[in-house]
Amino acid sequence: MKQYAMLVGGRWVEPASGAYFESVNPYTAAPWALIPRGGKEDVERAVAAAKSAFREGEWPKLTASARGALLCRLADLVAAEADALAEIESTDNGKLIAEMRGQLKYIPQWFRYFGGLADKVEGRVIPIDKAGVFNFTREEPLGVVAAITPWNSPLLLAAWKLAPALAAGNTVVWKPSEFASVSALVFGRLFERAGFPPGVVNILTGYGGEVGEPLITHGDVAKIAFTGGDRTGEHVYEMAARGLKRVTLELGGKSANIVFDDADLDEAVKGVVSGIFAATGQTCIAGSRALIHRSVYDAFVERLLALARTARMGNPLDPDTQVGPVTTRPQYEKVLDYIRIAQGEGAVCRLGGGLAERPECGSGWFIEPTIFTGVRPEMRIAQEEVFGPVLAVIPFETEEEAVRIANGTLYGLAAGVWTQSIRRALTMAERLEAGTVWVNTYRAVSYMSPFGGYKRSGIGRESGIEAIREYLQTKSVWIDIVGHAPNPFVMR
Ligand code: NAD
Repeated sequence: MKQYAMLVGGRWVEPASGAYFESVNPYTAAPWALIPRGGKEDVERAVAAAKSAFREGEWPKLTASARGALLCRLADLVAAEADALAEIESTDNGKLIAEMRGQLKYIPQWFRYFGGLADKVEGRVIPIDKAGVFNFTREEPLGVVAAITPWNSPLLLAAWKLAPALAAGNTVVWKPSEFASVSALVFGRLFERAGFPPGVVNILTGYGGEVGEPLITHGDVAKIAFTGGDRTGEHVYEMAARGLKRVTLELGGKSANIVFDDADLDEAVKGVVSGIFAATGQTCIAGSRALIHRSVYDAFVERLLALARTARMGNPLDPDTQVGPVTTRPQYEKVLDYIRIAQGEGAVCRLGGGLAERPECGSGWFIEPTIFTGVRPEMRIAQEEVFGPVLAVIPFETEEEAVRIANGTLYGLAAGVWTQSIRRALTMAERLEAGTVWVNTYRAVSYMSPFGGYKRSGIGRESGIEAIREYLQTKSVWIDIVGHAPNPFVMR
C-alpha cells in the first residue's frame, strides 16, 4: 500500500504523531492507501506556514494578474492529469469513473474562471458627502482560509473553494475527508508545479475532531469554507462563531423533483432517475423526493420503475457501470437504516429495498436502487437526507400543494420542475425555497453560476462572481485633501 504525506509550507511531511490510517476502496472493501493522521501540532505548523505566506514572501507581492496567471497554469496541469486523478477518486470513493472523469475535465474551468476574475476585483471611489476628503474602497483578502471538504466529489468541491480563495489573495489550509484523501494529496503536487509559493496551499489529512476542530478554532484562521453534512455544518458554525469567523457552509438537501401533468414524461423519468441514482444518490443535490401530479402518477411510476430496473451496477472503474457502491461503511449502514425506517413508516417499497447481492457487485457496499411509493410528506423518508439511492415518491393535486410539499422540509438546496408551461416554470422558480431550480433538466452546475443553499442547506455561495466576495473584505480609505483639521472635538 502506498503511504502518502501531507503538504505543509511547501514540504511533504509526516504527521507529528507518526500515525497513519487506511483508506478503503468501497468496491473491494479492502484498504488501498495509507493516509497521514494529522493532529493539533500539524495544524499549528500548517496555519503558521499559511499565515507567513499570506504576510511575507512572494505571494502578497504578486499582482492580481500574476495570481490569476498561476491559477490558469494550475488549470492546465489539472487538465493534463485529469484521467489519473479521476481514477484515484473513483478507487477511493467508489463513484463512477465516467462521473469522476467528467468532473476532473471540468475542474480546470474553476481555476481559469477565478484566475480571470483575480484582476477584475476593483474598489470604488465614493463621491463622499464631506468637503475636503477623498474616499475610496479596497477589496482585500481575509487571510488564512480553512477549506474542509467531503468525500463525495473531493476535488470538485475543493476547487469551488480554493479557486476563489486564491484568486482573492488568501492562503489556504485544506482538509479533505478522511474517507477520500488520496486525490487531494496527489493534487497538492500540482500547486508546486504551477509555481505557487510555499505555504500558499497546505494540505492536512485526518479526522474531523483531530484536524478539523483545531483548524476551525485556530486564532489565525480567518474563514472556514465547509462542505459536508448539516449537523457537522452546524457544529462548524458554532465553533466559528466563538472566534467571530466568516463561514461558507454548503450542506445537505432533500430536493424535490416535481413532475406536472403537462411535462414531457420521457424526459421527466430520465431526470428523476438521474437525480437520485446518479452518483448512487450520494450527492447533496440528489432529487430524493419525486413529487408527481396525480393524473400522471400511475403511468409515471411504472415508467420510473422500468427505467430504474435497467441500472447496471458494478465496478465503478468500468465505464459502463451506472450505479456504484456506497462510499463508506457507516454510510452504507445509514442507508439500510433509512430503508427500514421507511418500511416501518408504512411506505411501499416498489424497487430494491436492501443490499445488492449481485455477482457484479463483488464484496463492495452496494445497495439496490430503491423506490418507495405511498410516502406522505411528513414521513422521515421524505424529510431527512439519506445520501443514498433511495427515492420517495409523493403524489400532488395542485401547483399550490406541490409548492407546499416541496418547501415543507428544513432544507433548500435544489429543486427540479418538469413542465411545458412557461408560466408554471417561472412561477415555480419564484416560489420554491431552493438555491438552485432546474426546469426540464437536473443536476447541472457551472463555474459561472452561483451555487448554495436556502434554509438548512447552507450559508453563502460558491461559483460565479458572487463566490469571490466570500473571500474578500472591504476597506474604506479616507484621505484629507485640504490640509487643515476641522474642530478636533467633533466627528468630521
Ligand atoms: P461530514 O459532515 O461528515 O464531513 C465533511 C468534512 O467535515 C470532512 O472532511 C470531515 O472530516 C469534516 N468534519 C467532520 N466532523 C468535523 C468536526 N467536528 N470539525 C471539523 N471538521 C469535521 O460530511 P460527509 O459525510 O463527508 O459528506 C456528506 C455530506 O456532505 C452530506 O450531508 C451532503 O449533503 C453534504 N454535501 C453538501 C454539498 C453542498 O455543496 N451543499 C456537496 C456535497 C456534499
